Amino acid sequence: MKLMTMPSEFQKALPILKKIKEAGYEAYFVGGSVRDALLERPIHDVDIATSSYPEETKTIFSRTVDVGIEHGTVLVLENGDDYEITTFRTEDVYVDYRRPSQVSFVRSLEEDLKRRDFTVNALALDDNGQVIDKFTGLKDLEQKRLRAVGSAQERFEEDALRIMRGFRFAASLDFEIEEATFDAMKSHSFLLEKISVERSFIEFDKLLTAPHWRKGISAMIACQAYQYLPGLKNQEVALKQMTGSLSNAFTFTDNHQAWACLMINLEVGNPKQFLKAWKTSNDFQHCVTNLVTLYAIRQERPFQKSDIYRYGEKLAVLVEELRQAQGFEVDMTRIGQLNQALAIHDKHDIAINGSHLIQTFGMTPGPQLGHMLAKIESAIVEGRLDNDPVMINTFVREELAK
Ligand code: ATP
Ligand code: MG
Repeated sequence: MKLMTMPSEFQKALPILKKIKEAGYEAYFVGGSVRDALLERPIHDVDIATSSYPEETKTIFSRTVDVGIEHGTVLVLENGDDYEITTFRTEDVYVDYRRPSQVSFVRSLEEDLKRRDFTVNALALDDNGQVIDKFTGLKDLEQKRLRAVGSAQERFEEDALRIMRGFRFAASLDFEIEEATFDAMKSHSFLLEKISVERSFIEFDKLLTAPHWRKGISAMIACQAYQYLPGLKNQEVALKQMTGSLSNAFTFTDNHQAWACLMINLEVGNPKQFLKAWKTSNDFQHCVTNLVTLYAIRQERPFQKSDIYRYGEKLAVLVEELRQAQGFEVDMTRIGQLNQALAIHDKHDIAINGSHLIQTFGMTPGPQLGHMLAKIESAIVEGRLDNDPVMINTFVREELAK
């Protein structure tokens, strides 16, 4: 099969393929970008595979960076863009189900395609737009089917992350998982315990924010894979509830919202600890925890100015979207109005500061000063006090006289 019109991302990278070919080697576009081009989906990274060894690739281009030379990847900088060029390789013996114990460079494209996870990810495209399809990838693309390359059992045993990737691709592409592939995912799910949590997180995170996230979670439930992921053991009911409780068309606005929704459905008491087990960043833990707290507040009562001040307009909107998707009454305009009506958005916006209190009132640095500043801050936020130095002085005087 020939791709009639090459997407502009490929057009732009064609000179790279040509240069490698002129030097006497083979070069192809491979992986997700070829799949997405054929599905007429937007393309992100254009990956290039070549028969030239890394040291050879480096002599072809004037500007290169060794980004992962031990895996055969060289970054080439050309015409203001950069491209990852990876030598055809096979991955031998996986000892810990995580990473190949040895990567061998080879000169054969077919060998390289053979080690890829799913047939739709094992397509290559040459500089003439010709698709190289060694493993029924085109047929599977057409039939919207995820099928492991070669023996599914072996492929998941080699690298169990492929099981997570399978759920993720089902969710992002809206593909069905072929039977033998599905059976192997199911029988090898227990290996998910062995793979690094960081890698699982990336795939699960992509799954949750994908358009067909319900499909991904359902496949995960059907395979019992959740049993082997942090914090999800025995959580089938809660996971099912999550897929069923939100309106059909609903997709998550961002990953914070998605993980907060997961926390809410699992009724996680300590989201920070849960997310720590997934080895997420402090910022991520903080944001999701705030969302869960704000959601609980909103389930009790309408938002107040102080909520918007403390948690921000953006989180409030994310909470309201979650409520809306569950059929609760919502008031999006109120969030904007409350935000607009806030006299300050940050404590640095307060018309006075600590040293002013020290100079004017002879206060000393310490808890009492912090306490007074907090009082001023909430009075301004709640609209009981104007953010004006004179008014604030009067307020402080009254407070000190109490
Ligand atoms: P995305 O659109 O999310 O980037 P992708 O298919 O490009 O999806 P990547 O993770 O970027 O996925 O990997 C690029 C390619 O490398 C895949 O298409 C696949 O051929 C191969 N690949 C990646 N991870 C694995 C893996 N764990 N096992 C086998 N092949 C893999
Ligand atoms: Mg990719």
